[in-house]
Amino acid sequence: MSHTIAPVLGEATIQELRAAVKGQIVTPGDDDYAEASSVWNGAHDGHTPAIVVRCAGAADVITAVGFARSTGLTIAVRGGGHSVAGFSTCDDGMVIDLSEMNAVRVDPIAMRATVGGGAVWADVDHETQAHGLGTTGGLVSSTGVAGFTLGGGIGWTMRKFGLACDNLAAADVVTADGRLVHASESENADLLWGLRGGGGNFGIVTQFEFDLHPLGPMVYAGPIFYPAAAARDLLHAFREWAPNAPDEVTAIVNLTSAPPLPVIPEEWHGKKVAAFLATSAGAVDEGPGLVAAIRQVAEPIADLLGPMPYNVIQTLIDPLWPKGIEAYFKATNLARLDDDLIDRLCAAHLAAPGPQCEIHVHQMGGAIARVHDGATAFAERSMPFVLNAVTGWQESEAGPAHRDWARAVIGAASDEARTSYGEDTYDRLVSLKNRYDLTNLFHLNQNIPPTGS
Ligand SMILES: Cc1cc2nc3c(=O)[nH]c(=O)nc-3n(C[C@H](O)[C@H](O)[C@H](O)COP(=O)(O)OP(=O)(O)OC[C@H]3O[C@@H](n4cnc5c(N)ncnc54)[C@H](O)[C@@H]3O)c2cc1C
Repeated sequence: MSHTIAPVLGEATIQELRAAVKGQIVTPGDDDYAEASSVWNGAHDGHTPAIVVRCAGAADVITAVGFARSTGLTIAVRGGGHSVAGFSTCDDGMVIDLSEMNAVRVDPIAMRATVGGGAVWADVDHETQAHGLGTTGGLVSSTGVAGFTLGGGIGWTMRKFGLACDNLAAADVVTADGRLVHASESENADLLWGLRGGGGNFGIVTQFEFDLHPLGPMVYAGPIFYPAAAARDLLHAFREWAPNAPDEVTAIVNLTSAPPLPVIPEEWHGKKVAAFLATSAGAVDEGPGLVAAIRQVAEPIADLLGPMPYNVIQTLIDPLWPKGIEAYFKATNLARLDDDLIDRLCAAHLAAPGPQCEIHVHQMGGAIARVHDGATAFAERSMPFVLNAVTGWQESEAGPAHRDWARAVIGAASDEARTSYGEDTYDRLVSLKNRYDLTNLFHLNQNIPPTGS
């Protein structure tokens, strides 16, 4: 069955849906239609869904899925709306928007948080930090918990606590046939396995349950900015330091341009810089010792790495990535960070077409690598680094140059590129997809097409 052709929906049919849900139905012509159909990435604005269902709870999600199935509407699922590829909106179909379902409840004794399927990381951090607890979340606090966790989820505490998906203990999922299914280690364990890295392929998660850990409120965190001329030395030092650093610390090298912040000398604003950013989830007073080797690389422009509240590091770069900016990200795993690649990344940094062109080299390892490869759907856990080319721009005409640049950055690492799930994991994902979504109702995602029909 195809879900790509827009059916003609009569007003009476839409009225039936309005009557059946507790949340709000938004259709073209409604005052808030433009807002309801927009997503974070401005490059994907202007899509025209036939219906946006702002779900109030799991019952609305079940109703919306049933309605889309019976009318043949394409489904786009929206958690935080941060899909860079624009998966959380569509033309002529139905956006199932969970953003109102953002409640977070913390059980500090069990060290667990239940999190609504439309919550963003700011919601989780706010509630968990009140108890001195936390779990691995995104680098930007407006990123959705759902898409982030289902894709794996790399964040500041991942080397200590694991990826977001490693902390996912259970989930409630509305499946393609409209059932609400609980997935945990003891119930539908195969589904939980697939949710830990297999994306939005198997259903709509209405509630997540996460393991929490003691964290903060103060951590040792922040950036050190060096001149671009020190980028090569920084990457060499990072390559030696990263594999031997204790799990407490998670770091990134970011080849970027200096943001216009008062804490950075004005003459550097907008100039190319090499930043080292780190967060230690351990004791604050042990922080300086963890990064001493990096501090010797060069004279910094600004050294802002020090004690700060966890909630501050979690929101530090939010202003650089507001909703509506046009963006393109491309990533790959790196088995090595060899001299040639370092030189190519430094050259690409200097050739960047705009101020929001960033080359991130993430330090992996630690708790991520201690989970064996087949244990979750997140592949290639032994990779020591992840390379991410991150670009944003203001004027649409600048899009092609930025996209080409990001592709070239990742292309420069092509020898080391390992982007697939791996054969065994992929086969397992396909059989799970066959079991839970044989008609590919949920296909606007990093899609695993079903094979049996
Ligand atoms: C500014 C920014 C910063 C980022 N930082 C990081 C980072 O630090 N680390 C990292 O790992 N990634 C990061 N990402 C990538 C991010 O994790 C993904 O884009 C993720 O998909 C966003 O999740 P979302 O819920 O906001 O997305 P949405 O756009 O709402 O959805 C994305 C995908 O998830 C599916 N989905 C959404 N909600 C549900 C649900 N409730 N149930 C089932 N499927 C659902 C959708 O079908 C869609 O395919 C960042 C992205 C942006 C734009």
